[in-house]
Amino acid sequence: MIQRILVTGGAGFLGSHLCERLVNDGHDVICLDNFFTSQKSNVAHLLGRPNFELIRHDITLPIFLEVDQIYNMACPAAPGHYQYNPIKTMKTSVLGAINMLGVAKRCGARILQASTSEVYGDPEVHPQTESYRGSVNPIGIRACYDEGKRAAETLFMDYHRSNNVDVRIVRIFNTYGPRMHPYDGRVVSNFIRQALSGEDITIFGEGSQTRSFCYRDDLVDVIIAMMNKDNFTGPVNIGNPDEFTIRELAENVMSLVGSKSKLVTRPLPSDDPTRRRPDIGLAKEQLGWEPKVPLAEGLKHTIDWFKTIDLSDYRPPTPNFS
Ligand code: NAD
Ligand code: UDP
Repeated sequence: MIQRILVTGGAGFLGSHLCERLVNDGHDVICLDNFFTSQKSNVAHLLGRPNFELIRHDITLPIFLEVDQIYNMACPAAPGHYQYNPIKTMKTSVLGAINMLGVAKRCGARILQASTSEVYGDPEVHPQTESYRGSVNPIGIRACYDEGKRAAETLFMDYHRSNNVDVRIVRIFNTYGPRMHPYDGRVVSNFIRQALSGEDITIFGEGSQTRSFCYRDDLVDVIIAMMNKDNFTGPVNIGNPDEFTIRELAENVMSLVGSKSKLVTRPLPSDDPTRRRPDIGLAKEQLGWEPKVPLAEGLKHTIDWFKTIDLSDYRPPTPNFS
């Protein structure tokens, strides 16, 4: 059935791919974004489509729209982006959740929250299951994001219990692919950009910390499946359980690019999680989903895309976003 769907953060990396898929599936899609960490070029190809609208708006402010489903993706996601204006990050997660839950309540819409593996902080349990309550430093430099996302989950469940809002929560683990902001400072975009330009590859710490990388197509598949699954609020982990050290990632990228870059080390940022891997048992059981794209294949698509872009079209986060 054709739905009226709002995607907040719809011009971002994941949001733009989600909008594209929903538009191609025939839905009426409203993309809402303040372009803090993205640019219109991510969705420019959709602008002529009759079932796509773009609104410049900041979700920390109320908005009145009539929709059937809401994907709440708006929030800076890369550490450098969310630490740029940490108070704004917290407002986006908390006030943004309240405003979007308000829309959902008024319209009777189903609403999905893009939560994160960062709710587990620097986890003591490995791999992470949804029942693990996490280990976040509430006063550290990552807390604006981690605690903001935790508070948003709380708001989602309280609107569900108190006001019967039909909520879905997905905890997304590191996801990568074409349209990542080339200067977002995340490890995949940094390593690919550095390897392609022959710059030094910057490993933070010893590079023994681990992450598990999910390709964007697998992610888009599962969040749509989650939105359309009845009687299951989550939270559910979504990510690729194949775990790599950051040094292994660097070696993979260098070999796929054929790069002569040097590996150099830089200080490890504080509170950087040591190990991260999702337990995806619940996603398999409830959604019949598991990721299909192995790291080498996803990296190859991402590297091919990085080769096509003009880096001068991208800017770092803009001052004056308050
Ligand atoms: P992104 O930075 O590319 O996209 C976020 C989008 O939200 C951008 O277009 C940005 O301009 C917009 N935005 C930020 N603040 C806003 C505000 N106040 N009002 C309106 N728009 C605003 O990041 P992404 O990787 O596409 O992440 C999308 C969502 O998924 C985020 O909520 C993020 O926390 C979550 N997530 C992503 C990952 C990942 O690995 N990519 C992992 C965990 C969670
Ligand atoms: N990292 C790195 N070099 C970089 C960027 C990041 O070694 O140029 C490390 C970072 O310290 C972290 C991991 O890569 O341990 C993943 O970082 P990212 O910012 O992509 O995401 P996170 O999972 O930390 O939110």
